[in-house]
This record gives sequence, structure tokens and C-alpha cells, in this order.
Amino acid sequence: MQNSKKLRNWLDAFGLDHPLVIAGPCSAETQEQVLAIAHQLKDTDASVLRAGIWKPRTRPGNFEGVGALGLKWLQEAKDQTGMMTTTEVANTNHVDLALKHDIDILWIGARTTVSPFVVQEIADALQGTDKTVLIKNPVNPDLALWLGAVERFYSANIQNLGVIHRGFSTYEKTKYRNNPEWQIPIDLQNQFPDLPLILDPSHIAGRRDIIFELCQTALDLNYDGLMVETHFDPDSAWSDAKQQITPQTLDKMTVDLRIRKKGDDKVEFNNELSKLRAQIDVIDDKIVQMMGKRMNIADNIGVLKKDHNVAILQVKRWNEILGRMILAGEHNKLSEEFVLRLYKAIHQESIGHQKKVFKET
Ligand code: PEP
Ligand code: MN
Repeated sequence: MQNSKKLRNWLDAFGLDHPLVIAGPCSAETQEQVLAIAHQLKDTDASVLRAGIWKPRTRPGNFEGVGALGLKWLQEAKDQTGMMTTTEVANTNHVDLALKHDIDILWIGARTTVSPFVVQEIADALQGTDKTVLIKNPVNPDLALWLGAVERFYSANIQNLGVIHRGFSTYEKTKYRNNPEWQIPIDLQNQFPDLPLILDPSHIAGRRDIIFELCQTALDLNYDGLMVETHFDPDSAWSDAKQQITPQTLDKMTVDLRIRKKGDDKVEFNNELSKLRAQIDVIDDKIVQMMGKRMNIADNIGVLKKDHNVAILQVKRWNEILGRMILAGEHNKLSEEFVLRLYKAIHQESIGHQKKVFKET
């Protein structure tokens, strides 16, 4: 993607001194609902109204969206409030209808980004458009697939592009509905620093109480915007009720969020420093999480050793681990001395865990 600075033109055109905020309900439900939410949002930081018209449901039987009818409601909301509008398109028919109803920004959903065939069909249908296209990450943690979708649109001569980070599905249950895997958008940002990056905290969280902290992490990582599901009565929403917040909560949130403004050399230096520190925080969180998982496994080994009357310390195994890790360290530019000290500490903690298991069970 040459000339990548151009990718930001659409974003710069907003002329905002804060990150772009896209807000609105998960789904358009009724005309009254869309209009009421738009009016509650119009005096907040939100410049773009979102609403799903066609809803991709993982399992059938849930609300699948009101369909084309809802596009008229978005048009009406735009007329009444002056907000721009955005909705998800998942096939060429959706594209035709969205263009006919003058939707300003089209987003590609996570379940669409996974399919290069469908992405290509949509890119062909949009060939040369000056509409903005935002591409959500695929449901699976695969940076190449995400970038591949961006490249398909770029090759179709669509230059107003951006990406939305909405988290990745995991089989394992975590505190998130979709694991953020921050390292993936960080890698993407390092490869394409000019490609606008927007956080969708709602689909990552799946719940209201961690939306703020997700947004703060994203802003610390220098994201360009936020897309937040917003409903005047979240608990009664027809889809994704648990994760939606009210326009009033969104408004308060944007006041409380720490936003880094552009400025002179010193400000830019501090911005860059905080971004790099936020990247380190992401990795540190992961290291401690992985250590916790490692110790859980050590506990299980402890139970097994106790049941079979085997000593905790197995020197042969310990030497094998050390040898393997020193080699891996070399490949990752880590000194032998550091790996030795690190693994001695980890091993010590593991033994401590196992001793506890021996005592307790
Ligand atoms: C949505 O934004 O409502 C949606 C369905 O998102 P995703 O494609 O991220 O699941
Ligand atoms: Mn949703």
C-alpha cells in the first residue's frame, strides 16, 4: 500500500482534536429507536452514527436485523442530526442498498473478513468508490488475513480505508467476549502507521464495566478512534444488550479518557514514549498471565508426583529445560546469563508451588 498517507485523508477531513467516535446501537430496531439515539448522541463527541441493519448471528434464531428498511431510518437520522452514518455490509446486495441510501461509511464484519472470496466480491462491487470502508479484524487471530482484506480494497482503488479492532474469539473462557490480543493491532500499526486504527471495545468486552479501560489502553497505544455500541435502554436492546452503554455514559467516558493531543517536539516525544510504554504494558500483562498458566500446570504435576511418590526436583528434566531455553534465548537476542537467572527464578516458583501441593493434598 504505497502512498499510505492518503489512507488518512477521510479521517483528517473530520478536523477533530480528539479521536473519532462512532457510536450507536448494535442493531437498528425501530425508526423511533434510531432517531432517539441519534439525537442523544449529536451533542457528544460522536461524529458517526452506527447501526447494524443485517446482523450476522453465530447461531440462527436470534434477531437478524430489520433489513433494508432500516437504511431509511439512518438516512432520516442523518438529515435530522447531521451525523454521518455507518452500517455493516456482508454481500454485494447490501453494498448496492447502502450506497443507494447514501450511507457514508461501510464496515466489513469480523465474520466476513475471514472469507477472501466474499471480501473480493464486496471490493469489486465498491471498485473506485470514495466512500470510507472500515475492515474489522477476522474472528480468528490472523494478521495476514486482516491485512489481506485491506489489500483487496486498496487494490480495488478504494483509498479511504481503516481498520477496526474488535478482538478475537478463543475457545478458552476469559474475562473478554473476544480476546483483545493487543499484539496483533500493534504489529499492524507498526507495519502501516498511516492506516487509521479504531477500537471496538464493545465486542471485545461483551460487558459494560470494562469498556472504559479498553478505550484507555487503545488511546495510550495511539489508536485513531473508537466505535462504541450505544443504546438509550441497553438492557432492552434486541442484540448485544449486556455490552451496550447509554449515550450519557459515552459522553462522560469521553470526558474522563486521557487523550494525547498533537503538539510540539516535547509533546510528540511524550506521545511516542507513552505509546511505547503502553506496548510494554501489554507484553508484561501477557508475561504474568503466561506465568500463572505455567504455575497451574506445575501444580498439576505436583499432584501427579505426590500420587506416585516421586521427588519434586527432577535434575535431568530441569537441565533439559535450561538447555532448550538458553538456545531459544539466543534466537531472541537474550543473553545466556539473563535466561539462566530468569529460569532459576521460574523454577524456584514452580518448586514452591509443588511443595505447597505436597503439603496440602
Ligand atoms: C457489530 O458491530 O454489531 C458486529 C456484529 O460486529 P462483529 O462483526 O465485530 O462481530
Ligand atoms: Mn453488536
